[in-house]
Amino acid sequence: MGALTLKGVGKTFDGVAACSGINLAVEEGEFFTFLGPSGCGKTTLLRLIAGFITPDEGTIYLGDQEITHLPPEMRNVGMVFQNYALFPFLSVYQNIAYGLKVQKKKRREIRNAIETYMEMMGLSGMENRSISELSGGEQQRVALARCLVTEPRVLLLDEPLSNLDARLRDKMRLEIKSLQKRLGITTLFVTHDQAEALTLSDRLAVFDKGTCTQVGTPQKVYSSPDSAFVAQFVGETNLFDVVVESGRAMLPGGLSLELDGSKKRGRFVSIRPQDISLSVTKPKGPNAFKGMLKETRLNGGWVEHVVRVEGVSFRVVALNTRGDHHPMMPGDTLFLSIPVQSISLLDR
Ligand code: ATP
Repeated sequence: MGALTLKGVGKTFDGVAACSGINLAVEEGEFFTFLGPSGCGKTTLLRLIAGFITPDEGTIYLGDQEITHLPPEMRNVGMVFQNYALFPFLSVYQNIAYGLKVQKKKRREIRNAIETYMEMMGLSGMENRSISELSGGEQQRVALARCLVTEPRVLLLDEPLSNLDARLRDKMRLEIKSLQKRLGITTLFVTHDQAEALTLSDRLAVFDKGTCTQVGTPQKVYSSPDSAFVAQFVGETNLFDVVVESGRAMLPGGLSLELDGSKKRGRFVSIRPQDISLSVTKPKGPNAFKGMLKETRLNGGWVEHVVRVEGVSFRVVALNTRGDHHPMMPGDTLFLSIPVQSISLLDR
């Protein structure tokens, strides 16, 4: 068995399922992310694993030990909460020492462990500071140190970056990832931020309304979403309702796309914005359409265009190349080309 296994886990609050039928196997040392919109059951699942609540159905294993009904302190699982949940009236040192005192560790052992983790987290010299004297990033590090010092087998992180400003979030993201790799600790990370999930994870599970809809590496989930929900939630996409007939997908306005021969069924077409190319002369091949540029937005190294073709808007993303002396302007007529292999046919 892997580091953590969930079999048919479900939890209902007041007759409403927060999550149901969850089957997952997380490998030893893996950075595994639960990704999904607000209210889809991610935190509930983390709390079930930590033991703060117990499931109505299913079983949870840590290695090959069943822990479904064990109290939290018997699980060897550490959790860092979204708001850090530090003790405001205790010093940094006392906060980090808390778990070790609960474990009734000897004073010298506690001191050595705390020194190690304070240094690792860049907190040396802050032992006597109170929590209110720390920045958001420092509080984050104290929360991590308090958790890691107890040497849990699995680390649970519930949206740990959501209270930080954008720059600090990027910095802490890198820090958490490199710390996790260095310690080799199996980590479950909860987020609703797809960019965070794609950058950090070895694998991720996408959740929708209390169920797990797809599990895979970031690259696999991004490039082969198995539902329209995943295509839209993980990365940007052009998503259209379609009717499929004789190897073609008909879009609402009458526009029809040639499909690659292996694709026969589906209710939606998904095309990533960077898979569409634009040109001023009509390109050869299938799925080349004349359109009009509606809007252009510069986004640093990228340019995002909105192009209308027969009443349908396509988002197109291209590299912002410096050699472009004839930038396209809104109102320009141009051609849009969609390779057949970049068209995914999906159900919900
Ligand atoms: P967020 O990203 O907003 O934290 P989430 O995906 O973590 O969302 P959960 O917090 O797991 O979602 O909540 C899933 C559903 O279960 C929600 O509808 C929520 O209102 C409900 N829920 C969670 N905890 C409880 C509780 N203790 N009592 C009643 N309902 C709850």
